[in-house]
Amino acid sequence: MENYQSLVEKQRAYFQIGKTKEVTYRIKALEKLRQAIRNYEAEFMKALNDDLNKTEFDAYATEIGFVLHEIRFVLKHLRSWTKPHKVKTPMTHLGSTSMIYPEPYGVALIVAPWNYPFQLAVAPLIGAIAAGNCAILKPSELTPKTSALLARLVKETFSEEYISVVEGGIETSQALLREQFDYIFFTGSVPVGKVIMEAAAKKLTPVTLELGGKSPCIVTEDANLKIAAKRIAWGKFMNSGQTCIAPDYLYVHINVKERFLTLLKEAIDDMFGQENTFTKIVSERHFLRLKEFLLDGTIYTGGETNQQSLMIKPTVLTNITWDDRVMEDEIFGPILPVLEFEEIEEVIRQIQQKPNPLALYIFSENQEKQQRVINNISFGGGCINDTVYHITSPYLPFGGVGSSGIGAYHGKGSFDTFSHEKSVLKQTTKFDIPFRYPNVKDGLKKIKMFLK
Ligand code: NAD
Repeated sequence: MENYQSLVEKQRAYFQIGKTKEVTYRIKALEKLRQAIRNYEAEFMKALNDDLNKTEFDAYATEIGFVLHEIRFVLKHLRSWTKPHKVKTPMTHLGSTSMIYPEPYGVALIVAPWNYPFQLAVAPLIGAIAAGNCAILKPSELTPKTSALLARLVKETFSEEYISVVEGGIETSQALLREQFDYIFFTGSVPVGKVIMEAAAKKLTPVTLELGGKSPCIVTEDANLKIAAKRIAWGKFMNSGQTCIAPDYLYVHINVKERFLTLLKEAIDDMFGQENTFTKIVSERHFLRLKEFLLDGTIYTGGETNQQSLMIKPTVLTNITWDDRVMEDEIFGPILPVLEFEEIEEVIRQIQQKPNPLALYIFSENQEKQQRVINNISFGGGCINDTVYHITSPYLPFGGVGSSGIGAYHGKGSFDTFSHEKSVLKQTTKFDIPFRYPNVKDGLKKIKMFLK
């Protein structure tokens, strides 16, 4: 049976020396990581192509470039984030000052999925390093080339007691979960998120869970339909729909549905017309699951599949209801079911009945409708008049709520996620306010003046 006790102990011992807490050490580590990624850029492009048929454009824009940009942002701000900062002290604490010290947790475990196998492994690692932790990274077994290359990069760049990659599947992940970590950062599906949280609960380990779910996209009657069609086609069909925050399904106003669908088809043909540039479906099991959904409703466009190359053409399904199988769980593929609506309230009510989405998108020129949707539905994050784009801003913490996840990261959010805020009160010894002691005359009366 796999056992990672000695690796975790080695990392904890290294953490306790205190090296990883030094800000210059963290900065150097991030610079080394950046350089290593640059050195391996071409190899990662190839690995991502072998694993998922990602084009160089996609591999750079959504994985490598994304991560380099994140490192750059963190390096720019890290010194100021790491500084202990003073906060207010109330009158009742006269003579003292109050400080918050951001401190690393210790040894972090990062478990990553396959859909953006580079970005979703390295972006949390940046946070772990920035906050001063040691880390063990477990990439997905379903993208073996990228996993092996990550392991090589990390081995060549960092000592094992600082950062390590452990490759493997479910058993490896479970063997790691038997160890005592100080933080667990998981990205993946809702069912596995529950497994992770249960294992963490046994050891009271804090977690971030970046999960998934069905993310709605609403197009109202007054939306700019042409822009909506383009941005929805982009966000849905990039990476062949295997994006946690891709619009899962559409709600389109009945009066604009036909016109919108025509524009959507045009946008799909424009952007995703060349078959050999599709990201492939990650495995035959995933492919066959998706293929079943093509039997639901009516195929408006797309529908062609190729089991040999594991490709499914961007597909739009109409005549869909909530009883169709495609509407049961997160689709996670290039299939977009379309529902229609007349009143925005119906849409809000329907979505409120479902688990909290990871993302939500509304296309509308009407501010009141925009605000009604944003204020009445609880979801992780999202966009007004766009899809997916919110994930690329380092100023917007990214994460879910309810069943779509716990916690958030990116930019300062990543630093905060991997840091504990240690609150410290520094008291004066020059005087001693007497009321707090139980033996003072009229103590209760005096204390009631302050604590009311
Ligand atoms: P997954 O949950 O099957 O696997 C994720 C990781 O967990 C892998 O490393 C895998 O080896 C490990 N794992 C799988 N089963 C396990 C088990 N029983 N015990 C312990 N570890 C286990 O997810 P996936 O299929 O790789 O990714 C797709 C899912 O991830 C989708 O639901 C998607 O929405 C979600 N996702 C979320 C985000 C986000 O940022 N919120 C990003 C990408 C993907």
